Amino acid sequence: MTLPFVCPLCKGALTVGPQEYCCPACERRYPVVLGIPDFRVFPDPWIEIEDDWAKAERLMAHFDTLSFEELVRYYWLITPNTPPDLAARYLRHVLGGVDRGIASLAEVEQLSGPFTGEQFLELGCGTGGFLIAARRRFSTVVGCDIAFRWLVLARKRLLEAGCHDVTLVCCCGEYLPFPDHRFALVVASDVIEHTSDQVGLVRQGLRALAPGGSLFLATPNRLSLAPEPHVRVWGVGWLPARLRSPYVRLVRGIPYQHIRTLSYFDLRRVLREAGARHLTITLPHIPERELFRYNPWERALIQLYHRVLAVPGLRWPLYLVGPLFHVVCRAE
Ligand SMILES: [Zn+2]
Repeated sequence: MTLPFVCPLCKGALTVGPQEYCCPACERRYPVVLGIPDFRVFPDPWIEIEDDWAKAERLMAHFDTLSFEELVRYYWLITPNTPPDLAARYLRHVLGGVDRGIASLAEVEQLSGPFTGEQFLELGCGTGGFLIAARRRFSTVVGCDIAFRWLVLARKRLLEAGCHDVTLVCCCGEYLPFPDHRFALVVASDVIEHTSDQVGLVRQGLRALAPGGSLFLATPNRLSLAPEPHVRVWGVGWLPARLRSPYVRLVRGIPYQHIRTLSYFDLRRVLREAGARHLTITLPHIPERELFRYNPWERALIQLYHRVLAVPGLRWPLYLVGPLFHVVCRAE
């Protein structure tokens, strides 16, 4: 199935030009850059649109000579504001993406039954690990991200994995350029905490679901007893919102203003406001093969988490202070 694009703002039909899509109703143009349609209605908060394209061009200059892993290393080389230890950690996280995707697909199937269609959409696909896992199960796979530059990395990874028919689209999760009710599974893994309109993101994810489809979300717990996973700083989420960014800046020297992690109650509120009705929030196991990403102290904490998780009567405190949540919402 080829998926028609629609205007992300009004959902109306688009006209197709040589290097752009146009919405006659909104009088808005959406360019195709390096072969990737760019339907963003606002930029990635970390980088302006032109700078994002420029960085993508720099990655494209090495596209044929570097492997996927080398290209990701090169990306962090040209992003010197990220401390080297964090960049190394992000790289390990990226490389585990396919395995995480495989595990999450099995989890969704276990919770909501076999997939009811062949269309898969990932919001915030990043470097495309989940897309490779999904392509083994779905015939139509679409990955979108607000970070244009990362889609170049995803393209490289997909080609290396032999996935030549996955569609990559640059867009805002809150403004999807797809018609409603088309996808059997929509995934947003570690994305909701990066969006400014969290209710809008979930609402769009739900609208994209075909009847019988499922929306899967993964997100860290704001009140987790483990360090904040993006910046590796303890206790960030326990502070009042206005103090989080100055605190991270003080102890780590990096910005934090675009990250909004959710507690269990925050998450329930967002899901309710977005109209998610048939939903399950789970406390996932940290897979064995992910443990190498953590230091010994964190590994001990994870072990304790797994022990408590195994005792049904003791599980509820983990909704308050466990490391992360998985959510599966089913369409009507
Ligand atoms: Zn429009």
